[in-house]
Amino acid sequence: AKRNGPASCCAYTPELRRALAARLATESCLREAVAADRIDVHFQPLVRLTDGGIHGFEALARWRLEDGSSVPPDVFIPIAEEAGLISDLSTHLLRRACKTALAWPSGLILAFNISPLQLVDILLPERILAVLAETGFPAHRLSVEITESGFAADLERALDIIGRLREAGVRIAIDDFGTGYSSLSQLANFPVDKLKIDRQFIANFLTSDKQMKIVRAIVQIGLGLGIATLAEGVETEEEHRRLRALGCQLGQGYLFAAPMPADEVATYLAGLSDP
Ligand code: C2E
Ligand code: CA
Ligand code: CA
Ligand code: CA
Repeated sequence: AKRNGPASCCAYTPELRRALAARLATESCLREAVAADRIDVHFQPLVRLTDGGIHGFEALARWRLEDGSSVPPDVFIPIAEEAGLISDLSTHLLRRACKTALAWPSGLILAFNISPLQLVDILLPERILAVLAETGFPAHRLSVEITESGFAADLERALDIIGRLREAGVRIAIDDFGTGYSSLSQLANFPVDKLKIDRQFIANFLTSDKQMKIVRAIVQIGLGLGIATLAEGVETEEEHRRLRALGCQLGQGYLFAAPMPADEVATYLAGLSDP
């Protein structure tokens, strides 16, 4: 019965020692960055395609290094997940984002990304609601973005977590819709507030008939179920125009604005209302 003991399956090789050392170094760097307030939150506008009005902003994390460069979230979020830091980091980011968003006009939504790993954490709703209570940010103005892969690990638990957030008034958006584990059947059982059409479909829907059909189909699902659709990665006027014609309500992308530091949001909003 001792056949699978640690000594037989993973000997303490130099490679293992290096891998462990690198991981511990990265983990302690990340902890230090959180403690030293070097993880920033930038904000990108979510725009109403019909009238160009602002629906809200998505919070996007940035790890600022001492040399002025920054580590993108696609790189450090997986490290935080692996190191078991994602829950603490996420709470820290949400607190920062909520405090910032309190200064915005009161109709605006704060969209916040949740890692698929967090959808197995039964304490997630309490953690989020505690930040809302602490900061005074209203639940109905928070939109939690989850990817379809968040449903893959434990569907029941994920639905329980989402259900408790919805009961508290928090909005739910499906991020990168169309790329992951199919949650189509879940949409009917468990309505969400928003479908975010993944950037990969928007990137070439004007030139690819297939991509166009996918985008049109997602918008139609949204219209049929009464769920708003948002196109990610809108970069040109032509994309904007076609998406609006398809009935897609919201868009996000460099055409409107890149993610910006918190202190630029007020100037950005002022520039829109007074061109
Ligand atoms: P996402 O949620 O799909 O976020 C959209 C990404 O597309 C952002 O990349 C944004 O900067 C980028 N983007 C926006 N408009 C355009 C455009 O017009 N063209 C192009 N090419 N890209 C555009 P970013 O900020 O590097 O974030 C990458 C991913 O990291 C996010 O993808 C999200 O999954 C994750 N992430 C970011 N912040 C957080 C966070 O606080 N927590 C968690 N768990 N994940 C986060
Ligand atoms: Ca997102
Ligand atoms: Ca996305
Ligand atoms: Ca994405």
